[in-house]
Amino acid sequence: MIRYRICELKHLTPSTWFGELRHLLPAASPDLSASAVARWPAHAFAVCPRCGAFFVSGPAPHPSPCGLCAAAPPSFDAARSLFPYAGDVRAAIVAAKYAARPYPVDAVALRLHETFSERWRDLIPDGAPPTVVPVPAHPWKYFRRGFNLPALIASRLSRHTGLPFDPLALSRTRERVPQARLPGSLRHENVDGAFRVPRGRTVPPAILLLDDVYTSGATAEACARALKSAGAASIVVVTVARAVP
Ligand SMILES: [Zn+2]
Repeated sequence: MIRYRICELKHLTPSTWFGELRHLLPAASPDLSASAVARWPAHAFAVCPRCGAFFVSGPAPHPSPCGLCAAAPPSFDAARSLFPYAGDVRAAIVAAKYAARPYPVDAVALRLHETFSERWRDLIPDGAPPTVVPVPAHPWKYFRRGFNLPALIASRLSRHTGLPFDPLALSRTRERVPQARLPGSLRHENVDGAFRVPRGRTVPPAILLLDDVYTSGATAEACARALKSAGAASIVVVTVARAVP
């Protein structure tokens, strides 16, 4: 365990030391009632139509992709995030993942479902319902935590929307350093090749890939590459929150 921690820490830049320290602090205790979650402020302005990057002004949807997508389009077809990763939204995720506190899974899934019925209607074409697939945790991390937050939310979203749910479409084959502890420049390398479709498994043609937080897009990209290599035709990434500068 000590060797593992040392291997982790040598990757850290000074700025991410603060992230390490933050994980050691007691998590805040946000109001997790359904009525409080219903008031969490969603991002209301324009987004990149491809990767879903938040713009700070302008109506949604934005007509043209962001600079990153214009230069190198991602492997997924579109990504959207509901909330900025800040305030109670962030506190609730940190408390659940790092302090094993309860998470308002049903209320958050309901907010996602409502958004699919409104602003994200075009993400689910009629007649081609996607299968909801959560970003998997590494088995060791799943064993340690006892749950995978994206899978819990994806399961509940599937129930609300009626979309099929397949938590085993993807598996995570390795876990180096947790993405949350790395600067953006190292995140793509850290998860490159970390996901695969289990041997003999048929991949649904249309997939709604669900994760809790979108930061650099490295995890979504690695998952999308694995799914498309296995035959998926369409991948829409949806995350509860998106990191904001
Ligand atoms: Zn973009």
